[in-house]
Amino acid sequence: MKKTIRDYDLEGKKVIIRVDFNVPIKDGIIKDDNRIVESLRTINYAIEHRAKVILMSHLGRVKEEADLVKNNLEPVSRRLAELINKEVIFVNATRGEELESAINNLQNGDVLLMQNTRFEDLEGKKESKNDPELGKYWASLGDIYINDAFGTAHRAHASNVGIASILPNGVGFLIEEELEAFDKVTNNPVRPYTVILGGSKVSDKIEVIKHLVETADHILIGGGMMFTFLKAQGYEVGKSLLEEEFIGFCKEMLEKYPEKIILPLDCVCGKELSNDTNIRACQVSDIHEDEMGLDLSMLTFNLFGKYIEESKTIVWNGPLGAFEYEKFADGTKVLCKVLAELTKNGVTTIIGGGDTAAAAIEFGYKESFTHISTGGGASLELLAGKELPGIAIMMES
Ligand code: ADP
Ligand code: MG
Repeated sequence: MKKTIRDYDLEGKKVIIRVDFNVPIKDGIIKDDNRIVESLRTINYAIEHRAKVILMSHLGRVKEEADLVKNNLEPVSRRLAELINKEVIFVNATRGEELESAINNLQNGDVLLMQNTRFEDLEGKKESKNDPELGKYWASLGDIYINDAFGTAHRAHASNVGIASILPNGVGFLIEEELEAFDKVTNNPVRPYTVILGGSKVSDKIEVIKHLVETADHILIGGGMMFTFLKAQGYEVGKSLLEEEFIGFCKEMLEKYPEKIILPLDCVCGKELSNDTNIRACQVSDIHEDEMGLDLSMLTFNLFGKYIEESKTIVWNGPLGAFEYEKFADGTKVLCKVLAELTKNGVTTIIGGGDTAAAAIEFGYKESFTHISTGGGASLELLAGKELPGIAIMMES
C-alpha cells in the first residue's frame, strides 16, 4: 500500500496538498462545488494536525492569455474559506517572492491556496509536461507532499510526479479510497466478476475492452457503443451511433470471446434525440432505417439481470442509454436500482466514468454503491490494467 497523510507528523510542517479544485466556473460563479467539498477531509485533517497547509490545483486548460481570466482559482479560495470557516490566503502567482513570503509567514493550521498550476502552461507547458525545474521549485516550497487529486493521476505533471519525485510523500483520503476500491477489481476480484460497459463510443474504451476480455468473466455492452458491436454481428442499426472504423475491432473481439461479450437483444428507438420524439421498443434485428437506438428494453434487462444477479464483483462504466433525456433514462435507472440492492447484499459495486457517476448521483444513488469513482480518465486507465504515473511515483509504506 501507499504511504498516506496519516503516516506523517504534520505539526509545524509546510505540507503541499495537490487537490482537485477543477470545478465548473462561469463568470466567476462556481456552478458545482462538489470537488471542493470532497477535498475537505484531507484539508481539515492537515489543519487539525497543525500543518502549514499549501494547496495546489489546476483549473481548466491554459493555452492563451484569456484563459488566465477564465481559469482564475480565486473564487475557489472564497468558497473554500466558507466551507472550512477559516481564512484562506490566496496567492495570485505560481512562483516568486510574493508566494514565497506568504508561505514563510504561515502559522501552524493556516491555509494558503496558490494560483492555478496550469498558469505555468502558458509558456512551454511547464506544468503539463512536468518540467523538471518547475517540479523542483514547487518542491522547495514545502516539507511534505500529499497527493489527493485522483482525476489527474493518469498524467505526469509537475504538480504531481514532479514534486513527488523530490519530497517525502503520501496520498490523501480521496486517492486512498479510490485505490482501495479499484484494488478489489484489479487484484483477484471475487468471482463471478461482471463488467457493464456503455457510454457513447467504442473508440474511447478500446484499451479497457481489450484488458477486460482477459480479466472479467462477462462484459455486458449497452449504450451507444452497442451498435458498432451489433453492426459487426451483421445487424442494421439505422441512425444509431456507429463507428464504422471500429467494426473490425468489435468483430475480432466477438470472434475471440463469444461467451464473454454479451450484447443486448432489444432497444428503445426514437427518430430524434429528444423527449418529444415517439419511441418504440424493438428487437435489435428490427431497427428501422430512420431510427436511433437510444436505450435498452425488457428482453435485455432480463438477459443482463441473469449475469448481474449471480455476480460478486461488478464494475460499471458508461450510461446504458441517452440518460439526459427522461425517455431514454430507464436502462441507466434500472441498473442503478439493481446494483444498489446487490450492494446491500454484500456485492462489490464500483461505478466509474464522468457521465456515469453524474447519472448515478442525479438519480439519487450517491451513497448506494461500494464506490463511485471521481476520476473519469484515471479510472478508465486503471480498468485497462495500466499503472497511473501520479500513483506509481508515490512512496510505498
Ligand atoms: P462516461 O463519461 O461515464 O465514461 P461516456 O462519456 O462514454 O460515459 O458516455 C456518456 C454519453 O453516452 C451520455 O451523454 C449518453 O447520452 C450517451 N449515450 C448512452 N447511450 C447512448 C445511445 N444509445 N445513443 C447515443 N448516446 C448514448
Ligand atoms: Mg463522458
